[in-house]
Amino acid sequence: MGSQPHVLVIPFPAQGHVAPLMKLSHQIVDHGIKVTFVSTEFINARLTTTMPVNSPIRLVSIPDGLEPGDDQIDILKPINNFEEVKPDHFKDLIEKINESDDDRIICVIADVAVAWAFNVAEKMGIQSAAFWPAGPATLALVFLTPKLIEDGIIDTQGTPIKNDLIWLSKEIPAWKSSDFPWSFPGESRMQNLFFQYVFRMNHTVKLCKWLLCNSFYELDSLALNLIPGIIPVGPLLLGNQLENHIGSFWPEDSTCLSWLDKQPEGSVIYASFGSTSTFNQQQFDELALGLELTGLPFLWVIRLDIANEALSEFLDGIRSRIADSGKIVDWAPQEQVLAHPSIACFITHCGWNSTLEGISMGVPSLCWPYFTDQFQNKSYICDFWKVGLGLNPDENGIITRQEINTKIKTLIIDDGIKTNALKLKQMAKKSVTEGGSSFKNFESFIEQIKH
Ligand code: UDP
Repeated sequence: MGSQPHVLVIPFPAQGHVAPLMKLSHQIVDHGIKVTFVSTEFINARLTTTMPVNSPIRLVSIPDGLEPGDDQIDILKPINNFEEVKPDHFKDLIEKINESDDDRIICVIADVAVAWAFNVAEKMGIQSAAFWPAGPATLALVFLTPKLIEDGIIDTQGTPIKNDLIWLSKEIPAWKSSDFPWSFPGESRMQNLFFQYVFRMNHTVKLCKWLLCNSFYELDSLALNLIPGIIPVGPLLLGNQLENHIGSFWPEDSTCLSWLDKQPEGSVIYASFGSTSTFNQQQFDELALGLELTGLPFLWVIRLDIANEALSEFLDGIRSRIADSGKIVDWAPQEQVLAHPSIACFITHCGWNSTLEGISMGVPSLCWPYFTDQFQNKSYICDFWKVGLGLNPDENGIITRQEINTKIKTLIIDDGIKTNALKLKQMAKKSVTEGGSSFKNFESFIEQIKH
């Protein structure tokens, strides 16, 4: 046995999965455990450009089957490639580490979606923990899919049989079938692929000794109670790694922080839509015009990878037009932005990480979901926790400048929402502070894997 316990962490290859597992890894390292972070070549190449050289996390890669230069995130491509990547690579990696490193692998922590990692760990006699990076309500739905099929509520393709509204329990928001994470209207191949993928997760987690998630008990106890054995250890935040850009696929533009310093307290609209969502030209224009109409300063993240040639020219036009009223960056240090006193509200696509970050910083949200679990996260934000409002598209599917302007103005003067947001912020902080629920869960997990 080596001198230091050593854990292998393996994320699903997407930004919203890598970021929380990287935060978890840092917490693990802080407890005297060595962490090797295993990602695909494609993701590893991105991480190595943004990670600080003195990071305590060791990055290694395994082949991902993507062509050189194929660095566009296409939702199906990484999934297909990743699933095809031979688990043998992972097994070889563990064997190599165990041969050459004094610190032998004592545990594999993998994203729930990385099924084959659990199979490999089990065959090698290594204990494993599954990590769920999205919300508890989504995991509850995933776990209940076999029962929903058995009860004749959905079919084996994940399509509802009778009702479009599915209640997992009377006390938590119902799922609209159109909001299922595997729902892709008009794209049955995509829907089927996602549903089968999700369905398989049920079997995967049975191989694991622990099931961790990025949430906290007080936030959603009712959904968490539907998932046997779940261990909430969130909200996972950067904490003392705030400056270290951990787990980002793109370099963060920190100039927005000094720009925020110059804005009045509680005045800035922050608009950011995660790592995959994008808009067409008309929607970009409406958003720009809506932000301008408010007369408030705004910080807007527009990722460089979304712009094809035509869009790129158009966005340059927007950039120069709004130069006086707002700031556009390619990628922001989001947690630092949300924690900044100048921020008034967060226009968000409701990805789970962004949802938790908004909650943890007490910032009211304006919800603009795009796909997968984001619609259900929006229901939680608007109807369950009451810390935000939803943006509604018009009959052509466009969220208009008037809708954006009106909702922002309604949101920032709503004292009820502000009070709820501050309450959740306190609850989040308490859960990860000594004696809090997630704090205790994490400490206990660490003790267990060490022994
Ligand atoms: N993020 C960031 N800078 C940005 C935009 C996003 O650091 O400019 C981070 C954000 O803090 C979050 C992650 O990217 O941790 C996005 O994850 P989320 O689950 O919200 O959305 P996804 O990208 O998976 O759709």
